[in-house]
Amino acid sequence: MADYDYDVLIIGSGPGGYVAAIRAAQLGLRTACVESRETLGGTCLNVGCIPSKAMLHASEYFDAAANGTMAKMGIKVTPELDLPAMHAQRIDAVTQLTGGIAFLFKKNKVTWLKGRGAFVDAHTVQVGEQTVTAKDIVIATGSSVTPLPGVTVDQKVVVDSTGALELAKVPEHLVVIGGGVIGLELGSVWRRLGAKVTCIEYLDQILPGFDGDIRKEANKIFRKQGIEFKLSTKVTGVSVSGDTASITVEPAAGGAAETITADCVLVAIGRRPNTDGLALEKAGLATNARGQIDTDHRFQTSVPGIWAIGDVIPGPMLAHKAEDEGIAVAENIGGLTGIVNHDVIPSVVYTWPEIAGVGLTEEAAKAKGEIKVGKFPMAGNSRAKTNHEPDGFVKIIADAKSDRVIGVWAIAVPAGTMIAEAALGMEMGATSEDIAYTCHAHPTHSEAIKEAAMAVRGKAIHV
Ligand SMILES: Cc1cc2nc3c(=O)[nH]c(=O)nc-3n(C[C@H](O)[C@H](O)[C@H](O)COP(=O)(O)OP(=O)(O)OC[C@H]3O[C@@H](n4cnc5c(N)ncnc54)[C@H](O)[C@@H]3O)c2cc1C
Repeated sequence: MADYDYDVLIIGSGPGGYVAAIRAAQLGLRTACVESRETLGGTCLNVGCIPSKAMLHASEYFDAAANGTMAKMGIKVTPELDLPAMHAQRIDAVTQLTGGIAFLFKKNKVTWLKGRGAFVDAHTVQVGEQTVTAKDIVIATGSSVTPLPGVTVDQKVVVDSTGALELAKVPEHLVVIGGGVIGLELGSVWRRLGAKVTCIEYLDQILPGFDGDIRKEANKIFRKQGIEFKLSTKVTGVSVSGDTASITVEPAAGGAAETITADCVLVAIGRRPNTDGLALEKAGLATNARGQIDTDHRFQTSVPGIWAIGDVIPGPMLAHKAEDEGIAVAENIGGLTGIVNHDVIPSVVYTWPEIAGVGLTEEAAKAKGEIKVGKFPMAGNSRAKTNHEPDGFVKIIADAKSDRVIGVWAIAVPAGTMIAEAALGMEMGATSEDIAYTCHAHPTHSEAIKEAAMAVRGKAIHV
């Protein structure tokens, strides 16, 4: 048998790669992880989930003070924004968490190979001047911002999500191109801190992929908060002169063009898999039509011994999906059975209120068969009402015959936390009756899940 430098070599240290590396090392495999960034943790820890949540959390407090929410509870304050300090706490969170991964690598004896990795052959990777071999190689290179053709991101006037996390001043007018999760989260941050925000979306509704009712309700809530939307609208060009951008838009179906001016434009139209420079062909691999690497359900590619996980393979581009695939791939390499149930992966938008879902949308469920739906408004939930958080609802979709829950959607301040219960229930094959007869603590927002489950058979109490 060939003598390899490592049992497992992982390319990329995002939530997919670093989790795979730690799990592989826990299983006793000699493991190395290649990372081209200065710090570990990938998009998620460096320029994604963590810094965006740091800005969302801080701006939430500012907004609560500025918009009268605190005053309603007898706290009169006039907030003063110290943006450098807000950025400093964001950077601090990132530094602590990326440093935490470096600590975990040391603790688990994972070797961190610094530099860009490129295949030499199916068992060999070039990292800078070094050539390393491994019995198994996991591609976990993640994704990068999708550029908008003809639009140059200068990270000053025209920014991508990374630039939008770091703006040195609050824009007067921020135009967000793309009504998906990232655009809405970062648009919310700067709206809360005082920017006028206009969101331009090509489709006829925001949040593609989410349940139809949820998309409509979310749009209503964001409008109420002051975000202006231009739906079914296509951006045809962005030009910058000095500190001002001119964005040309026209109806998606065709029609008269219009020009919007702004001092900041955020391009947030999506992300694409990172495979450039990997020299996949040298390992005998190719990407699919969407630029992703295809795998089987064990995350093995078409080349034995090469595996792929996370944003670089098909499926939702989410950190927790990448993490679960990281654990599963390491277990499969280690001779165990690693499985990820892709039907039960929650999605969360960390706005105020939060928006979350798991499983099928009502539209997709209806297309598959007969369903029952229960809905419960947050205005009927005592905790939400007491906290001055009446917006939103919980919706449970169950199979009409078996009563098994096949989708749960929620708009509620802690929807991101509430959805874990739904995911667990679905993973365990719960029926709506199981959830309806599970005792939920009072007063909690989660009681709305119980009531929505009761509503599946028309039996909610508080409506
Ligand atoms: C602003 C923003 C907010 C987000 N918020 C959330 C959220 O709240 N929740 C959530 O679930 N998801 C969120 N995401 C998505 C999440 O960050 C990704 O789904 C997740 O990071 C994917 O993990 P990954 O391990 O596949 O890849 P990544 O995290 O992208 O990591 C891949 C790593 O591989 C490295 N790399 C790439 N090519 C090479 C190479 N050839 N050699 C060496 N290293 C290489 C890259 O430098 C990178 O560090 C957000 C994303 C953004 C941009």
